[in-house]
Amino acid sequence: MAADHVDVLIVGAGLSGIGAAVHLGRECPGKTYAVLEARGAIGGTWDLFRYPGIRSDSDMYTLGYSFKPWTDPKAIADGDSIRAYVRQTAREYDVEQHIRFHHRAVRAEWDSATARWTVHARRDDTGEDVTITCGFLFTNSGYYRYDSGYTPRFPGVERYAGTLVHPQHWPDDLDYTGKRVVVIGSGATAVTLVPAMAERAAHVTMLQRSPTYVVALPSRDPFADAARRWLSPTAAYTVARWKNVALGVANFQLSRRAPGVVKRFLRRAAKGRLPAGYDVERHFSPRYDPWDQRLCVVPDGDLFTALRAGRASVVTDTIDTFTEHGIRLASGEELPADVVVTATGLNLLALGGMTLAVDGAEVDLASTVAYKGMMLSGVPNFAMTIGYTNASWTLKADLVATYVCRLLRHLDDTGQQIVTPLAPDTDDLAPIIDLKSGYVLRAVDQLPKQGPRAPWRLHQNYPRDVRLMRRGPLTDGVRFARAGVPAATSGGTDA
Ligand SMILES: Cc1cc2nc3c(=O)[nH]c(=O)nc-3n(C[C@H](O)[C@H](O)[C@H](O)COP(=O)(O)OP(=O)(O)OC[C@H]3O[C@@H](n4cnc5c(N)ncnc54)[C@H](O)[C@@H]3O)c2cc1C
Repeated sequence: MAADHVDVLIVGAGLSGIGAAVHLGRECPGKTYAVLEARGAIGGTWDLFRYPGIRSDSDMYTLGYSFKPWTDPKAIADGDSIRAYVRQTAREYDVEQHIRFHHRAVRAEWDSATARWTVHARRDDTGEDVTITCGFLFTNSGYYRYDSGYTPRFPGVERYAGTLVHPQHWPDDLDYTGKRVVVIGSGATAVTLVPAMAERAAHVTMLQRSPTYVVALPSRDPFADAARRWLSPTAAYTVARWKNVALGVANFQLSRRAPGVVKRFLRRAAKGRLPAGYDVERHFSPRYDPWDQRLCVVPDGDLFTALRAGRASVVTDTIDTFTEHGIRLASGEELPADVVVTATGLNLLALGGMTLAVDGAEVDLASTVAYKGMMLSGVPNFAMTIGYTNASWTLKADLVATYVCRLLRHLDDTGQQIVTPLAPDTDDLAPIIDLKSGYVLRAVDQLPKQGPRAPWRLHQNYPRDVRLMRRGPLTDGVRFARAGVPAATSGGTDA
C-alpha cells in the first residue's frame, strides 16, 4: 500500500477502538479516519480470550457503549455475546470498511513542520511494511501483550508430564472431561475458570498464594429488567447504567474511607455462601484493603456453589515444585493434576508496543505525564484510551473519545493544527495506575506518570470525569499552535 493520509488514525479494533471510530463518525463527520488492527478480527480481548466460562466481571450496562444500549437480559455477559455486540456496533455504524486488519503499528514519528504523524505498520499476514500519515493519532490498543501472558518460573515445571495451559492461549481441542485440574491464581480469570471447568472435570483445585476479595452478584439485574418493562430500550439502559455507576462510586468511596467495614461485609457475605466450618479466614480474607486490587465478581455465586458441591476446592499455599504428576506445595501436600492452568496474569504493554518520536527525539513514556488520563506531556496530537481500574473500562473510553472529538473541532474552529500538553511544573508524580496487583507492579516503572491535581490527576470517578471531559475546558495545560511551530515539552500549568 502506498503511504496515504487520514485525519485521524485509530490503533486497535477492540471495544475501545470501535467505540472511538463511532464517536468520530458521529461527532466529527467531516474527518477521514482509518483503524489499524494487528489481528484479523474485531473485538480485542473479547476475541482473543477463549477459555471456558470467559465473561465480563463488570455489568454490561456500564461495559456497553453510551450510544448503544445493551439489551441482553444478562447483566454479566459471556465473551461470545460481548464479541457479537462489538462486531454488531462496527457493522451498524459503518466502521468495518475503515479497518485495516493484520496491520500492527510499530512506530509513529511526529513532524511539527507538517503537523503530521508518520505511522509505520507491519502487515502480519504478508510481512510487508506499510506507512500511513495522519493529523491525529489515537491509540486504543488495550493494556497488555497479546503474544504472551504472564507465567512465573515454576521450579520443576519441565518434568511435569500433564497438560500445562495459559488462559490467554487456550487450545481449542483441550478436553478436560473427568480430569483432575489445578488452576493456579486467584484473580478474575481463576474465579471464572474454576466453576466453569468444574462442570466437566473430575475435580478443580484453585491454588492461590494469597486470597482475593470475591463478591457474588446476580447475573441478571432485577432493576434493569423492571426498567426494560416500563421504558424504551435507550431510557432503560440509561437508568440502569447510572444506577450502576452510582453504586460503583459509593462502593469504591466506602472501601477507601472505611475499608474495615467493607472487609467485614465481604467476609460475612462469602461465609454465608460457604459450607459451615469453611476456613474463610485462610481462603477468602485478603491481607490488602478492598480496591487495592480489583474485586473479583462471581455471577450468582457460581464459585461458591462449586465449592459447596465439592466439585472444586481452594488451596492457599505456595508451590515448592512441579512433579511429574502434579504440584508439591510448601506444606508438603501434593496436588495431583492432569491439567494445570496458569491463570497467573497478563504482561502489561503500553501503546500496543509502539514507539514514538517527536521531531526526531525519542519519547520515553516513563518521563511523560498523562494529561486527563488520555494525552501525554510533550506529545502533540496524540491520545490514548486507558479505562478505569475501579469501574467498567468503556465508561472512560467513551469519555476519552468524546474529548478527542471536542478537541478536533476546537482545532478546526480556531484555525490551529497542533495541541500539545505541557508537562506540569511539579515533582509530585505518581504511577498512572494505582492498583497494587502484580501485573501493574511489574510494569509500572515503564508507564507514564500522573500529577497531584487536575488536569494531570486521574480521579477514577466517572461522574466527575463526565463534567471534566464532556463540558470542562479544553485549553488548560496545553499549547495550541499552527504547523511549523516546534513541539514544546514543558512549561504547563502548575499541577
Ligand atoms: C479476560 C479479561 C476480562 C476482562 N473483563 C473486563 C470487565 O468485565 N470489565 C472491564 O471493564 N474490563 C475488563 N477487562 C479489561 C478489558 O481489556 C477491557 O474491558 C476492554 O476489552 C479493553 O478494550 P480495548 O479495545 O481498549 O483493548 P483490547 O480489548 O485489548 O483491544 C485492543 C486491540 O488493539 C489491537 N492492537 C494492540 N496493539 C496494536 C498495534 N500496535 N497495532 C495495531 N493493533 C494493535 C489488538 O490486537 C486488539 O484488537 C478484561 C480484560 C481481560 C483480559
